[in-house]
Amino acid sequence: MSKTWRPATQLVHGGTLRSQYGETSEAIYLTQGFVYDTSEAAEARFKGETDGFIYARYGSPTNDMFEKRMCALEGAEDARATASGMAAVAAAVLCQVKAGDHIVAARALFGSCRWVVETLAPKYGVECTLVDGRDLANWEKAIRPNTKVFFLESPTNPTLEVVDISGVAKLANQVGAKLIVDNVFATPLFQKPLELGAHIVVYSATKHIDGQGRCLGGVVLADKAWIDENLHDYFRHTGPAMSPFNAWTLLKGIETLPLRVRQQTENAAKIADFLAEQGKVAKVIYPGRKDHPQAEIIAKQMTGGSTLVCFELKGGKEAAFALQNALEIIKISNNLGDSKSLITHPATTTHKNLTEEARAELGISPGTVRLSAGIEDTDDLIEDFARALTKVSA
Ligand SMILES: *Cc1c(COP(=O)(O)O)cnc(C)c1O
Repeated sequence: MSKTWRPATQLVHGGTLRSQYGETSEAIYLTQGFVYDTSEAAEARFKGETDGFIYARYGSPTNDMFEKRMCALEGAEDARATASGMAAVAAAVLCQVKAGDHIVAARALFGSCRWVVETLAPKYGVECTLVDGRDLANWEKAIRPNTKVFFLESPTNPTLEVVDISGVAKLANQVGAKLIVDNVFATPLFQKPLELGAHIVVYSATKHIDGQGRCLGGVVLADKAWIDENLHDYFRHTGPAMSPFNAWTLLKGIETLPLRVRQQTENAAKIADFLAEQGKVAKVIYPGRKDHPQAEIIAKQMTGGSTLVCFELKGGKEAAFALQNALEIIKISNNLGDSKSLITHPATTTHKNLTEEARAELGISPGTVRLSAGIEDTDDLIEDFARALTKVSA
């Protein structure tokens, strides 16, 4: 593996660990344990004097390939693959805080991420302040002497707001706190949080990295010192490890990540432009469009648009439901990043647990719809929307 390889090459070859059989495709090592030639060898392995695997909860060869490939892509020193995106988020947050610490997080977070910082962490004596992450002044105001962690997602779900990552990273550095970025919506191709100054990056690999709707997975990436000091023991002893079978599926998925994300982004951009022209659509939010309210920050920190489009129908919930029900190719599903185009109505699905007021703060109205563009033919998708819009009254 070479550090100079470009992403598309890293994603096909990075981290590959060939067995004595010289297999082309990565092997699945579906094993719980490992055997040692001698008692002395076992002792040395446990002492850390020799390299090698001990137990699959700690690490295993297929997972190791996936972690190394993700490190190569992200430019991270080390990583841990987890059973789901939420296992990655929970591990990244909880492994580094103790009672009396304080977290500052953007309020526009994936629902379960918000629950971890807003509801779970306080149960253990870790306080959390949620801020409107779009304005750096809000982050600064929320800082306390005991602030240990900053947490954000950018672009956000579902309204595709962005947060100035390097601005928040600077604030974190001023107070010795760590910034965790959930980079799912940007994908590892279009945004490099570590280069922007973030300390820890998390992914739900369930989304674009699998990209074909098969299995759950997650990953935490950071520098080796942080992982050794914080995540290493937490990961071993609480057991969020990914199944080697899922690691293998994700290794295969990630090979085609650039091809899929490129097509998805192209589709999303064209659909966003099409929707913006439609009389029944009140507004379109898409990070690749010049009319995005934060286009300047996007130009500074992202190298591509997004595979997601958020838009609002003038006719509210009734119109949103009618549109979704009339689509033929695009499926109704709360998942995202899939090669199939998926559409969801956040107010009644992903964000139904928030109060109406909290939804309004995030810009989610009864007419808000989120599209995750797939890899289908662009014209078929646009025709699907055009046909379905005729079924929407008002
Ligand atoms: C899906 C998602 C998660 C959670 O990932 P799972 O794999 O479903 O556990 C976290 N953050 C964001 C932004 C997501 O989209």
